[in-house]
Amino acid sequence: MKNLKEYQEKRNFNKTKEPTGKERKSSKKLRFVVQHHLARKDHYDLRLEWKGTLKSWAVPKGPSYQTKDKRLAIRVEDHPLEYRNFEGTIPKGEYGGGTVMIFDEGYWTYEEEKDINFDKVLKFTLHGTRLRGKWTLISTKDNLWLFIKEQDNFVNYAKLSDYSTSIRTGRTMKEIAEHKKVIMQSKKNYIVDSILISNPDKKIALHPLVTKYDIALYYSKVFERMFPYLDQRITSFIRLPDGVNGNFFYQKHLETKEKGIGKKMLVNTHEEKEDYYYIKDKIGLISEVQMNSYEFHIWGSQIHHINHPNYLVFDLDPDENMALKQVREGVKDLKSILDELHLVSFLKTSGGKGYHVVVPIQSLKSWTSFRNFAKQIAKIMEKKWPDRYISNMRLQKRKNKIFIDWIRNTKGATSVAPYSIRLKKKLAVSMPISWHELDKVKPDGITMQEAIKRLKRKDPWEHFFEIEQ
Ligand code: MN
Repeated sequence: MKNLKEYQEKRNFNKTKEPTGKERKSSKKLRFVVQHHLARKDHYDLRLEWKGTLKSWAVPKGPSYQTKDKRLAIRVEDHPLEYRNFEGTIPKGEYGGGTVMIFDEGYWTYEEEKDINFDKVLKFTLHGTRLRGKWTLISTKDNLWLFIKEQDNFVNYAKLSDYSTSIRTGRTMKEIAEHKKVIMQSKKNYIVDSILISNPDKKIALHPLVTKYDIALYYSKVFERMFPYLDQRITSFIRLPDGVNGNFFYQKHLETKEKGIGKKMLVNTHEEKEDYYYIKDKIGLISEVQMNSYEFHIWGSQIHHINHPNYLVFDLDPDENMALKQVREGVKDLKSILDELHLVSFLKTSGGKGYHVVVPIQSLKSWTSFRNFAKQIAKIMEKKWPDRYISNMRLQKRKNKIFIDWIRNTKGATSVAPYSIRLKKKLAVSMPISWHELDKVKPDGITMQEAIKRLKRKDPWEHFFEIEQ
């Protein structure tokens, strides 16, 4: 038993966290450790450093400070030096499966070379905290040894039962075992809707702290309300793989096919065939979060009628530093125009600076008429209130005016989906709200927590899919 071969052969290091171990040079001072090991049988393991490994004995009853007690010590395979740091659990069914606690540690010394014969006898002194003084280990036959306290000032120094905690961490055996359970439990909790969320603690926002796991839970909770707007709609994904300090990726196409993600081949603006993707179910949405997509933008049409849009969006995008009151006036003006046309419209926060006014509409049968209609509305507003609105995107003309963004009502363009979070500092939600809330709710005023609370209320967009116009 001069090397660690036996030690390594007995263990599956894919399953146990015990050290794999290398033989090392011994330090000048020789270390010892006694580990309380609750496996199939409760016992204490005495390990003495020698020539780069730990010579080891399992002592069923543990050491005794009484000289009359001759404790059985079963010589076991040499352990690696790092094993003296091992405290924790060994999985059930594995070799030595159970709980290991560092009972005591320190140095050991001997007086003469002849006192040290690892085949026959060892006379040594322990310099630990709980274990001190002179001891003898003596071989009887095969692997069976006796561990005996020798006469000195430490006789009757203590009883084993005086100590129930780890000398290193202060934990009891029970606490060490429970720690393992807590870890297993938290791992279990990192599964959201049967998707294992890797790197669940990845920071996505800092003030307040929001993690990847928080976002997965958020989408799981809002899924039922959100999904009707994602259903059958080509979706773009905003990815943030490195968390809050990393770069954004705006992604129309995914690299890999995943469960819950649908694919549709379309001809893009360059007349090329291209695959587009959409979320098919809850697994699809949570898998997207797992792949670091946190923000979702949707098309105005659904895949079975790709050239027949039915979801019209006006994005009221205010000039920087514009008073919120003025932005809200803009939304009201837009609604008054839509009301005059007898069009039912719905309001949501953008999660950024403005509001979105959404109109479910089926009567415009092509992208061209759909887009022209949206443009007309913006033009009407510009004409009626030229000091307040512009329908032209060019920035230099925007001073203190609201740009009525109608351009997103174009084939291939997208707008942020209801209930999607926005990857901005505040991580606000693009949240459906009722019209009477316009003056109360800020465009970036709905956090994920607030959104979840609101799920208990009546859905302000309850009749969205019933409107025919
Ligand atoms: Mn053991």
